[in-house]
Amino acid sequence: MNFTIEPQQQELIDLAKTIAVNEIAPRALDMDKTGVMDEELLHILKSSGLTQTSVPKEYGGAGLDLLTVALIMEEIAKGCSGVATVCAANALASYPVLFAGSDDQKKELFDCLNQGGMACFALTEPGAGSDAGAVSCKAKKVEGGYILNGTKCFITNAPIADKFVVFANTKEGGGIRGLTIFLIDAKTSGVSIGKEEDKMGIRASATAEIIFDDCFVPESARVGKEGRGFLIAMQTLQASRPVVAAISVGIAEAAIEAAVAYSHQRKQFGAKIASFEMVQQMIADMVMKTEAAKVLTYRACVAQMNKEKKAAMYSAMSKCLASDTAMEVTTTAVQVMGGNGYSRENPVEKYMRDAKIMQIYEGTNQIQRLVIANEATFG
Ligand SMILES: Cc1cc2nc3c(=O)[nH]c(=O)nc-3n(C[C@H](O)[C@H](O)[C@H](O)COP(=O)(O)OP(=O)(O)OC[C@H]3O[C@@H](n4cnc5c(N)ncnc54)[C@H](O)[C@@H]3O)c2cc1C
Repeated sequence: MNFTIEPQQQELIDLAKTIAVNEIAPRALDMDKTGVMDEELLHILKSSGLTQTSVPKEYGGAGLDLLTVALIMEEIAKGCSGVATVCAANALASYPVLFAGSDDQKKELFDCLNQGGMACFALTEPGAGSDAGAVSCKAKKVEGGYILNGTKCFITNAPIADKFVVFANTKEGGGIRGLTIFLIDAKTSGVSIGKEEDKMGIRASATAEIIFDDCFVPESARVGKEGRGFLIAMQTLQASRPVVAAISVGIAEAAIEAAVAYSHQRKQFGAKIASFEMVQQMIADMVMKTEAAKVLTYRACVAQMNKEKKAAMYSAMSKCLASDTAMEVTTTAVQVMGGNGYSRENPVEKYMRDAKIMQIYEGTNQIQRLVIANEATFG
């Protein structure tokens, strides 16, 4: 597979790598313990453009293509996938506005991101996870706009977001045909942040509920037409899943690096464990599977960029394979490191906890397999 990266885009990938090594990785274990994103680090990410990867050139951004965004997120994830999730959530929130928003809405969101603001994508609800059509957050049409009532849960960046991209139902009786998107300022009256999750992994990223209590939004907050939300959500996830795949690849690469380094340093039976064939086999499998996941991830980005017919299938395959690989590779990395791998003093047990969410968010891997099977069987 051939692809070229423009020099300007390569600069940003290199910058992400430098920041991951010098600023993210040294803070990663601390953020994992506290469950709080380091303020100074967030400032560095914002001022270096890493929270604005989705902003097009005409709105003052770098106009990066999807492959470049994926390569940036892979580098950040090597430092900490919780941090990559924070940055990627801004891109996830941008896609519905990019695909269906008005010029004013694009200005509103992208000016905010350019100025260091944060955003979130609010689809999931207590009763609506894999089944997006079950969204029960209501948007009732009133004069001049809509009144929203309902609760969103598990929303990445919710506590630090300035702009919410919210999916609510405008149809009596609900269902996917009523899903409608709204771009809402966090300071809007009737919006509040609910319970914050105490998570297994990606603990640098904040995940919380958003509660809408008789929240009035003007008609100008509606993104696209009423009832188009499901289609735009699917387009958004299709564009974004290769980024989850790239973060997964980054986690796997970090785990391999740690396991290989340890295998050279640890001695048992008078020899470095790197010399034992069974350890070598574990490392060979880790490297081989990660490389395969990486190639499929980049292929999915290219399919999406070229608007290929099977782009949705590639997107699902990349997310599914890369996250399953990250889970397997991080578990093996713990095995290579034995008891030390299980200790919180080393990062590999964190990689293992972080990898798990990659199989769940942006559509579980069961849902990805449904997408793949559907395209392979009936597409
Ligand atoms: C840390 C974190 C961050 C998140 N960030 C966001 C965010 O920013 N924005 C957002 O909107 N959401 C977010 N989510 C929500 C996430 O996308 C959902 O958790 C995910 O889509 C799964 O939904 P669920 O948890 O309700 O599981 P469920 O849908 O209840 O699924 C439970 C199990 O049933 C399986 N299952 C369900 N339906 C089927 C089916 N038809 N066939 C086969 N198996 C099926 C699933 O694969 C899973 O194994 C986040 C979640 C977490 C944990």
